[in-house]
Amino acid sequence: MTNKILIVAGDGIGPEVMGQVERVIGWYSDKRGFDVEIDRDLVGGCCYDAHGVAVTDATIEKALAADAVFLGAVGGPKWDNVPYEGRPEAGLLRLRKDLELFANLRPALCFGALADASSLKREIVEGLDIMIVRELTGGVYFGEPKIIEDLGNGERRGIDTQVYTTSEIRRIASVAFELARKRDNRVMSVEKRNVMKSGVLWYEEVIKLHKEQYSDVKLEHMLADNCAMQLVRNPKQFDVIVTDNLFGDVLSDIASMLTGSLGMLPSASLGAKDASGKAKAMYEPVHGSAPDIAGTGAANPIASVLSFAMALRYTFDRGACSDLLEKAVDSVLANGLRTGDIMQAGMKKVGTVEMGDAILAELNRLNG
Ligand code: NAD
Repeated sequence: MTNKILIVAGDGIGPEVMGQVERVIGWYSDKRGFDVEIDRDLVGGCCYDAHGVAVTDATIEKALAADAVFLGAVGGPKWDNVPYEGRPEAGLLRLRKDLELFANLRPALCFGALADASSLKREIVEGLDIMIVRELTGGVYFGEPKIIEDLGNGERRGIDTQVYTTSEIRRIASVAFELARKRDNRVMSVEKRNVMKSGVLWYEEVIKLHKEQYSDVKLEHMLADNCAMQLVRNPKQFDVIVTDNLFGDVLSDIASMLTGSLGMLPSASLGAKDASGKAKAMYEPVHGSAPDIAGTGAANPIASVLSFAMALRYTFDRGACSDLLEKAVDSVLANGLRTGDIMQAGMKKVGTVEMGDAILAELNRLNG
């Protein structure tokens, strides 16, 4: 079956890094029988310039029909003063909302060659490979009531509400269990059941789902504050961490920064599975459009390339192809090639296209 990919490269360095992803996709199509049909469209500031909106209905339709959407980055100073509804981020948010992407996946992968760039000691982070699964559409960021009220006595009260339902917890937990089966088969469920009712419910529902459908996966539980501490103390103890929107926001930033630069960090957002078992998916680097280096050919394409590696594993079910791509990136770094953002003394500085060339050369070498 032909795999359908929609590429929305966006603004700034988005098109530059996605150009290298397209070359890698082309390699998999030629050399590993990855049957693919690519469509390209506009989202963000470039779409606003062309159509007066940050994403069009037609693009949303294409995104809904695709097996995976690949986004570069959106935004930049050029669009700082456009009307609020037309701002570049609105395109990204609408894609996430219309595709109902409730699960945010942020891996933290530490390549040996970059271990010294971490703020932690090499032995703590070298070989690190963990995945944080964050619930993205519920919890305290969306729960009602969400207000600031005037108490009339010179006091005001700000209220946010943490709410989770059984089905919201079960669907994010099942994403985590399924991911674990494609990795080291271990899930750490994280909440604060010691002080939060939603945490008690989270804990109970995860255990129930595990018993019913995923008893082959090793499940453990940890309080969120302890998890933050353990991520810094001994991050390699984790495989998949599943947690709510608020804790996930904080823990995924801690985990990702264990590994060094923004230019290295991929991400994915997944929706519910349809009748054929396929989940809607959008893959994107964590970084933004980097207007300060856009157009200079200096952007690091690795975060975007690793987002494609995630898609190979989690959407296209090609774990071996994904391993190969991660290995190719690892070898390129071990050979001493660096873009400016990850430059270290004694290494060779290269631009976006040269980094793409090097990744393709390593893919060819490793493929034999
Ligand atoms: P940014 O991630 O674009 O850049 C932060 C710094 O990291 C810059 O110095 C940049 O040059 C560097 N950097 C980022 N990615 C890099 C890469 N691949 N290679 C080399 N260096 C890289 O964040 P920012 O400067 O805060 O935001 C710039 C614009 O991007 C803003 O308009 C913001 O709204 C937007 N943004 C978009 C997204 C997204 O599309 N998902 C995410 C964050 C920010």
